[in-house]
Amino acid sequence: MPELPEVETLRRYLEQTSLHQKINGFTTEDPKRQLALPPEELHEEIMGRQMVSTTRIGKHLLVALDNGKVISLHFGMTGDLHYYRIPEDAPRFERATFYFDSGFKLAFVDSRKFGRIGLWDSEEAYIKAKALGPDALEISADVLQKGLQKRKSPIKPVLLDQKLLAGIGNWLVDEILYQAGIHPETIAGELTSSQLQNLVNAMQEVLKTAIDKEAVYRELPATFLIHAREWDTSPHPEENTHKHCYRCQTEILKTTVGGRATYFCPSCQVK
Ligand SMILES: [Zn+2]
Repeated sequence: MPELPEVETLRRYLEQTSLHQKINGFTTEDPKRQLALPPEELHEEIMGRQMVSTTRIGKHLLVALDNGKVISLHFGMTGDLHYYRIPEDAPRFERATFYFDSGFKLAFVDSRKFGRIGLWDSEEAYIKAKALGPDALEISADVLQKGLQKRKSPIKPVLLDQKLLAGIGNWLVDEILYQAGIHPETIAGELTSSQLQNLVNAMQEVLKTAIDKEAVYRELPATFLIHAREWDTSPHPEENTHKHCYRCQTEILKTTVGGRATYFCPSCQVK
């Protein structure tokens, strides 16, 4: 599933390819599925307009038009973007296409079809409709502390709540808690101020590192827990050399917290 680092990579891709060109066409394969509004309505608002800027909030990409309207792109399980000119370069699973007067096209690619395109009066209208909290890359320790202080649930599911902060998915939360040295079942409201600061620092560090690697996870540093996650999908799990904690060599454990598969180091992340 495209998470914050993937969506940030897609945001930069769209910025580098598609801004400041007149939109002179738009098609969708299955408007009922891919669009959050009737196709005629979208058409009317975007024809002749230009994309002028982008914002990412969590896993959501917003593209502002020169008439003030905002296109929302949500990438579902498998969404992607592809910018191209000649038909030979058209991607597989192209579900929707913006046509520009330069002759180039921006394709919304989505093999599993859970992605959605919408149109909004403003960024604020979208954030309100989706009840999104602040972006995980932007949130401060103070704001996070206010969000956590009354929560009596384990920290892991709380951090997955997109109303508290937007953009953290399952592997990311495990990685952040591992880097911060916090057990995933620690009660959210009981984190000390130094744990909170570690959490915010780890969140920044993990997200920025993943964005720097353009979300190519095999290129993440060896100090990352993500490399230990792969053992249950590897055809030869016994050959995976990363199943021990990089720091202390303790065996990484897999458990379930808040109904989600959870990996952690029992000696670096003490309850
Ligand atoms: Zn460890």
